[in-house]
Amino acid sequence: MDEIKHVVTGDVLIIGSGLAGSMAAISCLEYGQKVIVVNKGKMCWSGSTAVCGGNDIAVCFPEDDSALWLKAFVESSDYTADQNWIEIFLKESYTQLLKLETLGEKHGLEIFPKQNGAFWRINRAINPFRTVLCNLYSALEAFSKELKVSNAVLYERIMITKLLEEGGKITGAIGIHYRTGEVYLFQAKAVVLATGCCTYKADLFDVCGEGYTMAYEIGAKMMSFDRGGAIMRPKDVMRGGLLCSSASSSMANALGSKLVNREGVDIKEHMTEEEKKLGRVGQDRAIQREIEQGRGPIYEDFINLPDNVKTVLSQLRCAAVKRVQLEYGKNPFTETIPMEHIEQTITPDQSNRMGGVWIDCTGQTSIEGLFAVGDASCPKISFQHPYNGSDLGWALLSGGRVGKYVAQYCADMTMNSQNDLNDIQVRQELARYRALLEKKDGVKPDELKEMLIQIMIPYDIHHCNEKAMVQCLDKIYNFIQQDLPRAEAENLHELREALEVYSMAHVAVMIVSSELYRKESRVGVRREDYPFMDNLHWKKWIGFVKHENQMCFFTESIPENLYEIPDEVNTPFVTRL
Ligand SMILES: Cc1cc2nc3c(=O)[nH]c(=O)nc-3n(C[C@H](O)[C@H](O)[C@H](O)COP(=O)(O)OP(=O)(O)OC[C@H]3O[C@@H](n4cnc5c(N)ncnc54)[C@H](O)[C@@H]3O)c2cc1C
Repeated sequence: MDEIKHVVTGDVLIIGSGLAGSMAAISCLEYGQKVIVVNKGKMCWSGSTAVCGGNDIAVCFPEDDSALWLKAFVESSDYTADQNWIEIFLKESYTQLLKLETLGEKHGLEIFPKQNGAFWRINRAINPFRTVLCNLYSALEAFSKELKVSNAVLYERIMITKLLEEGGKITGAIGIHYRTGEVYLFQAKAVVLATGCCTYKADLFDVCGEGYTMAYEIGAKMMSFDRGGAIMRPKDVMRGGLLCSSASSSMANALGSKLVNREGVDIKEHMTEEEKKLGRVGQDRAIQREIEQGRGPIYEDFINLPDNVKTVLSQLRCAAVKRVQLEYGKNPFTETIPMEHIEQTITPDQSNRMGGVWIDCTGQTSIEGLFAVGDASCPKISFQHPYNGSDLGWALLSGGRVGKYVAQYCADMTMNSQNDLNDIQVRQELARYRALLEKKDGVKPDELKEMLIQIMIPYDIHHCNEKAMVQCLDKIYNFIQQDLPRAEAENLHELREALEVYSMAHVAVMIVSSELYRKESRVGVRREDYPFMDNLHWKKWIGFVKHENQMCFFTESIPENLYEIPDEVNTPFVTRL
């Protein structure tokens, strides 16, 4: 711990290997870069991509109507989508899909399931567009096979904790192997940040916002954290309820499954038109009512699905299917699965439709040589809800095209720094690890995480009006000033957690401060005190940057080159989670 054991040098350092980071690595390799990939979890198998497993992705097919995609992105993002990036999506997303398909074929894996020989597309949730089914388990397997046989240098179980810069240019990063305690210094001409989002849910502990915090700390522009981090999930998400919750509003439902009540009646028959429009929220309301009116339990019914649908669902939802088999002892394709109850909760979840590190159309951030892709970047195209495939679409597109721009950048660069091991940035980071490990009589990081989660949840109560947000922000600042410094790490595992909770707390400030700045309701944030979307005053993106240790906010106008945004103040908020 007192010294750096490993110094690794390359053209480009990629941090994170979910869908975006893996696509970025392959794209940089294509352009002949000497690539280093560092991942906190197992190579290619951690983060949101690994959890969401089999899913659907927003991709514009050549036969699609571009104008409709444009309308969907602009309107469904409450006009916040970047129209320049929509143009890129229309032109390039299909190419990225084909690239991934070819990679799968090379390794004997079917990444995109087929229906009658063609890509299988579905209408999911409230998305008017057909997204394409994708087996991300196969994609991740293909990535890991490809990276292993490539020239890339791979490091797993290493958590990057600090980006290094010199004179406004990125020079590398420092990280710790949380099983061996060995510290690594990575030196590169360019860095691609692919560290995913920041979640406050205990079931996704890999993505804790380190990418956001590290980029912010070296002065990168950040953007769109005001777009709300709320995501409505049934509380018992990892039960049979995982299958159930996705059933009506999303994939399984799009493929023809049903939720039936005790009498065997499809609950859709009892849903109001409004509930049908509200997607999963409406479905959950209907479930609750059925149970309250004595028609529960509700059952997941996959029994009558065609065989090819059963096959594809069991592949795409294999983790959930296994779970149902283990927990209920049932085969969901031959027996109905009862849902015991459904309890709504809203959890903050800094996923892709929200903020991240600002990037331009090449993926470069405001720090020279630092690129960002996927959830780590500020999503330039997004829908109201990731279940419409836009998050994965963004990871595929932003990661898949970044190699070209990284290569262009690196071509003009010599290694601009050899961070020496006594560099002040490096020494400070080592001291930070040491202090956490040496602290006695402090607070365990898991307790701190729990305290922070309590401050951020329930999202709809803490983030609904100015008073509640100010109180929430005060609590976060108190937490940062009084509780965080008490973190103690008895071992390396706890050291990792302590470093994570540090990031989560700082991202919490980014979210709540940005929400407070916007005085209207838009995307995921619905204000009781400003219940209307106000295009007259707030047709803008909100960003911030660190300046003299302060978070300084700024706004940027949203381009209207393809779609004119109406100047109106009359769109009342509706729940569309
Ligand atoms: C349950 C669930 C369901 C979802 N459903 C959908 C859906 O239906 N449609 C949709 O479009 N999107 C969906 N999403 C969102 C989608 O999964 C993500 O937007 C997408 O996978 C992001 O990919 P990524 O590569 O940017 O990040 P991730 O896949 O999260 O990868 C980030 C990687 O960075 C690594 N990492 C993090 N911090 C560090 C660090 N400090 N040092 C080194 N490595 C680090 C992590 O270990 C991880 O491997 C869902 C997400 C979840 C959790």
